[in-house]
Amino acid sequence: MEPELEHVDCDLCGKDDSRPVFEGVTDSELGVPGAFDIVACNGCGLIYLNPRVPPADVHRYYPPGSYGPYQRENPLILALKHWFWRRDKRSIEALIGSSGAILEVGCARGDFLNSLSNGYALYGLEPDATAAAIAAGRGRATVWQGSFEDFTFPPELRFDLVILAFVLEHLPSVRVAFEKLRRLGKAGSKLVITTANFDSWERKCFGRYWHCLDAPRHYCVLTEATFREYARMHGFSVLSVTYSRVPNDWIGGIGRFCRARDWDTLARFFNIRNRAVAAAFLPLSLLAGLCKRSSRFTFVLERDA
Ligand SMILES: [Zn+2]
Repeated sequence: MEPELEHVDCDLCGKDDSRPVFEGVTDSELGVPGAFDIVACNGCGLIYLNPRVPPADVHRYYPPGSYGPYQRENPLILALKHWFWRRDKRSIEALIGSSGAILEVGCARGDFLNSLSNGYALYGLEPDATAAAIAAGRGRATVWQGSFEDFTFPPELRFDLVILAFVLEHLPSVRVAFEKLRRLGKAGSKLVITTANFDSWERKCFGRYWHCLDAPRHYCVLTEATFREYARMHGFSVLSVTYSRVPNDWIGGIGRFCRARDWDTLARFFNIRNRAVAAAFLPLSLLAGLCKRSSRFTFVLERDA
């Protein structure tokens, strides 16, 4: 039986005054049942799922073994990721130097943590038990299993850097998450947060089939303006915002559009692992990134005193 949905007020400004953006969105990615509404707050512009699946029930919408981040990467994709991570690693060194405590929230199988150099004290938190066990077994990082909203971190720990890549949109409250992130840091500590950008060409092109909408697993989708407001409210300064240049969400959008129409052969063709398709969409995704209109952005924040 499907869980009863819950009505929520806007997480950013607290108002209960919204307009529909997409109604009756179904899950053409993993095929879970239900139809969901996405709304925009008339007070602050936050885009969010309302009504939503209660956080205690949302695990039902991640069918076991089907959610991409927990699956073993094929070697070519992993090699590409390592190539991208070289730049991320240089950025981390520029941010906190070559030592310090780093926490990755949502570390999945620990691939990124394991790519970091030995000078850091590494910590990971991962809600999926299997992925957490794999990450812990690799031995480089202290890995806990749990959800960010419920997990109690050792009180003596303060992190120099906390990384959240595609995590924020899954959390029941971004506001509560920012409150917790503030407590986990200290004056001058950094946050690197990658999440989906609603003000993107991909969203405008694909609408309800936009890959990053991902209802009902994503509770909210931010824009640069709403992200900046969360940061300001919680005493973080924005050091930089960068827009991704990867073609994933162009291809993902076509895949979802095709699956919703049962065009399964086409859907299989439009797959990020199809190198020819990825190459074909690269010019467009590079342009979207350069114009700051791609569907994923990364904020680097510094905690104020
Ligand atoms: Zn609002």
